[in-house]
Amino acid sequence: MNADPILQETLIKRSQQKKRTSPLNYKERLFVLTKSKLTYYEGRSEKKHKKGSIDLQKIKCAEIVKHDCSPIPCQNKYPFQIIYDCNTLYVFAPNADSRSLWVKTLKEEIQNNELIMPKYHPNLWTEGSWQCCRQADKLAPGCEEYNLFGKLTRKPLPPTPEDMIHNNHPIKKPSSQMDEEEEEEAEAVLALYDFEALESHDLSLVKGEEYVLITKSDVHWWKAKDKNGCEGYIPSNYVTEKKSSTLEKYEWYCRNANRSKAEYLLKSEDKEGGFLVRDSSQPGMYTVSLFTKFGGEGSIRHYHIKVTQKPQRQYYLAEKHLFDNIPELIEYHQHNAAGLVTRLRYPVGRKGRSAPKTAGFSYDKWEINPSELTFMKELGSGQFGIVRLGKWRAQHKVAIKTTREGAMCEEDFIEEAKIMMKLSHPKLVQLYGVCTQQRPIYIVTEFMELGCLLNYLRQRRGQQNNEMLLSICQDVCEGMTYLEAKGFIHRDLAARNCLVSESHVVKVSDFGMTRYVLDDQYTSSSGAKFPVKWSPPEVLHYSKFSSKSDVWSFGVLMWEVYNDGKMPFETKTNAEVVEFISCGYRLYRPKRASKVVYEIMNHCWHEKAEGRPRFSDLLLAINQTMEPDY
Ligand code: ADP
Repeated sequence: MNADPILQETLIKRSQQKKRTSPLNYKERLFVLTKSKLTYYEGRSEKKHKKGSIDLQKIKCAEIVKHDCSPIPCQNKYPFQIIYDCNTLYVFAPNADSRSLWVKTLKEEIQNNELIMPKYHPNLWTEGSWQCCRQADKLAPGCEEYNLFGKLTRKPLPPTPEDMIHNNHPIKKPSSQMDEEEEEEAEAVLALYDFEALESHDLSLVKGEEYVLITKSDVHWWKAKDKNGCEGYIPSNYVTEKKSSTLEKYEWYCRNANRSKAEYLLKSEDKEGGFLVRDSSQPGMYTVSLFTKFGGEGSIRHYHIKVTQKPQRQYYLAEKHLFDNIPELIEYHQHNAAGLVTRLRYPVGRKGRSAPKTAGFSYDKWEINPSELTFMKELGSGQFGIVRLGKWRAQHKVAIKTTREGAMCEEDFIEEAKIMMKLSHPKLVQLYGVCTQQRPIYIVTEFMELGCLLNYLRQRRGQQNNEMLLSICQDVCEGMTYLEAKGFIHRDLAARNCLVSESHVVKVSDFGMTRYVLDDQYTSSSGAKFPVKWSPPEVLHYSKFSSKSDVWSFGVLMWEVYNDGKMPFETKTNAEVVEFISCGYRLYRPKRASKVVYEIMNHCWHEKAEGRPRFSDLLLAINQTMEPDY
């Protein structure tokens, strides 16, 4: 009979829609396979209720997941996948035997299906890309041939008469009845910033309004619907989940501000009682930074939000006033100073600050029409040619690199630009697009008002306190941690290749670009323009680039920062530097670098790449070095 279970077991199912890899997105479900359906239930067999069901006829692929590189955040470590319609369901079995039984049985059951995939993705879809081939489009065609029967140990069973009847008369649900539990609960998001749709397939956002998500097939551009039913793509970094308890939706919350950025923001606002809430240097904790003119000149206090012991877990700034959550605490202190130097009068947060950059100007747009660009003043000139300030569609300030003829391997770069557009992080200079219909091509990027970090450091010699210097290193390290996680190697990290924004945020630029330079003097390690002083031994001797060679360069960049932009190894020639490093010598401790800071740099200069820390470890070390809050 069709309804008799063929297989039944409690497995773990990964939520299909949620972005984060939080353990909450991995749920125990009782899976029951019959001849016609795979159904999963919440609860055990006696007291279960149905959460979702898939028609076996719709399944296009059932296969194990090869997961050699991704950590699995639930206790079952044996994933397999079921692909149906446009969905991939990941299920985690407790052991290899259970998994192979499920996959084998499913394969037997779907063998007569009309739609079997020719290719599939052997690894997981995680954090916005397929881990097997790094494609960032969820619907990208598979990268490995799918062999439906290759793993079967016995011949497929002949269909039973019941199957024949069932196959001829499939029981179709009305299309409005969704199969998947996540699809039943549409996800609502709130707009954090206004966004003006620039192409017809995009959707404008109004700050504070609610939108319903339709798909998240691209990490940076989600498809959403507004209250009038209009659909289109929106930048994912402009919205926050409505349901979540995140502080993102509050005007006063500035997640990315560290102590020195907070001081900068509050000082430039110069308002009595100006305040913001930010992530504390202690992970998982929050700090209120408050500006007051009490007693003369403006000064800033940083108050750690303290938490009482479990099970109550209440929040407080002043011990007598406890609250269940941070928004309640803030609201109270907006009306009562209660021990603070002044009450929290004026939120200095997102208000007035510019919205974050989007990954390109629009969904799936990387070609820019040159007639929509206007050229303004020259900003500088580099390896590829002149860089100019410009405007796109007369409105958006951009930097435009006009490449010099013969300076760049353009065809290769154009291919890579599509991938680089998808790299999007607050500490990376955003690539917006390219004009490829003419030669030489134009490269259009985010405009950085304060120019290159090297000049910035030199111009402010002696004027920056140690905390500002460490905050520069922190910005760069954050950008590099992102590149490292994406498996993207910079190859030329140095202060000259970082840029500074109007609000003094430092961002990494020119990542991966040396690969397209057509100048031997620059690309060969014996060339006069090769960044020898920023390169580790394995690059100098074997041209072996990796995220760990970027780590070495980062150590040199830290040295530049703590020496106000001085040239490393000063008067030494490149050949002398190679000799010096090979003998085990390293750059000296800059006067302004504390012992702990110098230890971080030195760690980056371990002779062997394996001995160097990862950027994610460096970031932790830098964060721990930041001055604690009160
Ligand atoms: P290249 O990498 O081709 O050698 P750069 O990217 O270093 O060239 O650009 C040369 C100079 O142009 C920089 O030092 C900086 O002063 C200026 N510049 C480059 N990009 C920008 C930008 N996005 N915003 C502001 N100024 C920029």
